[in-house]
Amino acid sequence: MKVVDHIKNAKGTLFSIEILPPLKGQDIKSIFDAIEPLMEFKPPFIDVTYHREEYLYKKRENGYLEKVATRKRPGTVGICAAIMNRFQVDAVPHIICGGFSKEETENALIDLSFLGVDNVLALRGDAIKSEGVFVPEKNGNNYATDLIEQITNMNKGRYLDDEVENAAPSNFCIGVAGYPEKHFEAPNMKSDIKYLKQKVEMGAEYVVTQMFFDNSKYFEFVETCRKEGIQVPIIPGLKPLTTKSQIAALPRIFNIDLPNDFTDALDKCKDNAAVKEVGTEWCIQQSKELKAAGVPVLHYYSMGKSDIIKTIASAVF
Ligand code: FAD
Repeated sequence: MKVVDHIKNAKGTLFSIEILPPLKGQDIKSIFDAIEPLMEFKPPFIDVTYHREEYLYKKRENGYLEKVATRKRPGTVGICAAIMNRFQVDAVPHIICGGFSKEETENALIDLSFLGVDNVLALRGDAIKSEGVFVPEKNGNNYATDLIEQITNMNKGRYLDDEVENAAPSNFCIGVAGYPEKHFEAPNMKSDIKYLKQKVEMGAEYVVTQMFFDNSKYFEFVETCRKEGIQVPIIPGLKPLTTKSQIAALPRIFNIDLPNDFTDALDKCKDNAAVKEVGTEWCIQQSKELKAAGVPVLHYYSMGKSDIIKTIASAVF
């Protein structure tokens, strides 16, 4: 079922999670083990991230360095099928522009359609870590808007190869990313929201936000979106902060602020166990306030840490 239909049919705020494919070489068990304890909260859908290739430099016998491409977390499409089969919930694969030609994207979408996947989260993806700036693949999509155009074309039965006749239309519900504190590359919020609106006008049916730790940022974002005419559901994405190193890393990586009250409490933490406790409690309070405000879904970036998400969900649902 489509994410938007789950939202339409819901009697209250839904619970959902995002998981990462395991590192290459691990089996599916780690995924099942991460989801199993959370099934009691009845997630109608589970997102599975997509990870593009990274470059490693390997030293050759002659001393030269060889640039080698490697994908550390492959398997998104297979994991989606495995989750749907095992738990009878919808899986939402993330589809990214980076590292894919349009043909490769089309092939992945065809596979997903055959597997009965009804939803995709359409993203640009980030730059390769060693490159710093996002560079689209040759014959690939440049922005999420381009990817949305490709998917909506498929939903109309238009494939890249215009020789295909009587093509069956796909039927994907498309979600996109939104940034309550602005995407790090956008010159300002106005510009970022302009492109978010474009994503919706081109066919995105719902938005999932970047993580945030200050609910007022989410509420302001939703208000601005509504004023600008973006009327689709805006699902808040939440992540419990669990380690001291994240206090500096999350703002830098995701262009987000930690509120003063939160950092005051975190400053008093002597070790990671204390940070985890404070971070979990903060996430519970955020969740309760958002749920009371009637958000459609509370979507947790679980990172495979089901124990923490279970503690939060038990306190909130
Ligand atoms: P876009 O919407 O394309 O926006 C990128 C930037 O360009 C923004 O600054 C925007 O304002 C601007 N812009 C947008 N459209 C245009 C246009 N037509 N012309 C000019 N400028 C434009 N990354 C992964 O690699 N894998 C994942 O699985 C993944 N999952 C994510 C899930 C969520 C909920 C979120 C919030 C992010 C996720 N990301 C993931 C990270 C995401 O790929 C990055 O944040 C990326 O830098 C931007 O992706 P986007 O889809 O928002 O890009």
